[in-house]
Amino acid sequence: MALVTNSLKILNEEDKKDLDVARISEDEKSTASRKLYIESYGCQMNFADSEIVASILRENDFATTSKIEEAELILLNTCAIRDNAEQKIRHRLQHLVPMKNKRKNVKIGILGCMAERLKTKLLEEERIVDMVVGPDSYRDLPNLINEVEEGHKAVNVFLSREETYADITPIRLDSNGVTALISIMRGCDNMCSFCVVPYTRGRERSRDPHSIVKEATDLFNQGYKEVTLLGQNVDSYKWQSSIDGQQSTVVTFANLLEMVAQINPDLRVRFSTSHPKDITDEVLYTIKKYDNVCKYIHLPAQSGSSRILELMNRTYDRNWYISKIDRIREILGDECGISQDMIAGFCTETEEDHQETLSLLDYVKYDYGYMFAYSERPNTPAAKKLKDDVPEDVKSRRLAEIIARQREHSFERNQMSVGKVYKVLVEGFSKRSKEHLSGRSDQNKMIIFPKENFKLGDYVNVLVTECSSATLIGKAVE
Ligand code: SAM
Ligand code: SF4
Repeated sequence: MALVTNSLKILNEEDKKDLDVARISEDEKSTASRKLYIESYGCQMNFADSEIVASILRENDFATTSKIEEAELILLNTCAIRDNAEQKIRHRLQHLVPMKNKRKNVKIGILGCMAERLKTKLLEEERIVDMVVGPDSYRDLPNLINEVEEGHKAVNVFLSREETYADITPIRLDSNGVTALISIMRGCDNMCSFCVVPYTRGRERSRDPHSIVKEATDLFNQGYKEVTLLGQNVDSYKWQSSIDGQQSTVVTFANLLEMVAQINPDLRVRFSTSHPKDITDEVLYTIKKYDNVCKYIHLPAQSGSSRILELMNRTYDRNWYISKIDRIREILGDECGISQDMIAGFCTETEEDHQETLSLLDYVKYDYGYMFAYSERPNTPAAKKLKDDVPEDVKSRRLAEIIARQREHSFERNQMSVGKVYKVLVEGFSKRSKEHLSGRSDQNKMIIFPKENFKLGDYVNVLVTECSSATLIGKAVE
């Protein structure tokens, strides 16, 4: 449990685990005089945003720290996708009350989607919060901090149609020096009825491809071996420059993928998230063409029932989704890793709808899945128009069934890898032993193998000898 000194709570390793996917800023060696601690929750886009925030604040004499007790500025970069994501932040803030009472000069800021959703209400409800900053307002942080230092509460939740932070070089936080995230676009123009993202992250905009290629090239030159291109719907990436009013050619996601793949064959390229309505054959053929573009696609389904998909406003039905899966298998083969997102217990979902979700899982046999019980989000189209009428115990039971089925399939898919050799990029040590390394295969499978003389950032051919539903175990071969 946590170490509690008087009233000051310091996170230990166990607490950090409890924070689930929270990422904590690391100690930055710097001559900066002020310390900044950032805790990031939710999706990879949030983790990438925290790196932009650290970069903006470095210009203002802040260096990041992993020790909350030495920070004068504490930022929580939050998620609002489900109610429990917001509750987690509220609990975290409760934990910070004793620290704030003890160290009056500590300032606390809430960034990200929860800040955008709740705006000034967050200041009213959480008295220890000094600053509320939405995802498009990070350039304004230095001014907002000044305002707070002058004794005011500060808020900026303006959503932009242009901001992509293209010119800002992120400071890599919690980095293994091997893999890095690159945001290629922001916001989302889809209006999935359950989702809060269009309201918290604003309209979709794509980032200048040249700045993306430059960022990836710089990372490769610094020794990074893998980049993940991030967007809520990468397949709708579209960039067109305008010189003297003349429109130049359009850069699509397939074009961008190719540009990044061509930087160096030793730089692996991943991307997330693909949308079933937008993923094209052109993208699939680009993945096939380049050995360094990973053969792995995260293709959220959300449901296997066409009726529910329509209510969710996903703009595809079960057959369309299946045809995309078939196309992936046709072009990239059975080995291509595929993962899903699935929501259990969406409004009006019947047992038949739920069975259709299970049968979709059986059809696809995904390698991996992220599965959630439906959580109604205020002011979304579903909250306004549909009744959240599936009882919580039914949602939980259906979710458990989906998770159990996915686990069977993950094990089955992992077993297919036993006896095969994969090129693994070493990302770190195994959690259990410093004598073993861990890294991912092209298909995004985590593989553990004896360290021998290999090190972080090496590509190693690993023969898989055994597996569980979560991990492959193997040994290096020539
Ligand atoms: N842009 C991605 C897409 O279209 O698939 C997903 C982005 S969202 C941050 C990640 C996942 O959270 C979604 O795919 C969905 O499964 C889940 N999610 C979103 N809103 C939800 C809600 N209200 N309740 C439960 N799960 C939700
Ligand atoms: Fe949300 Fe749908 Fe946009 Fe994904 S595509 S972020 S689920 S609105």
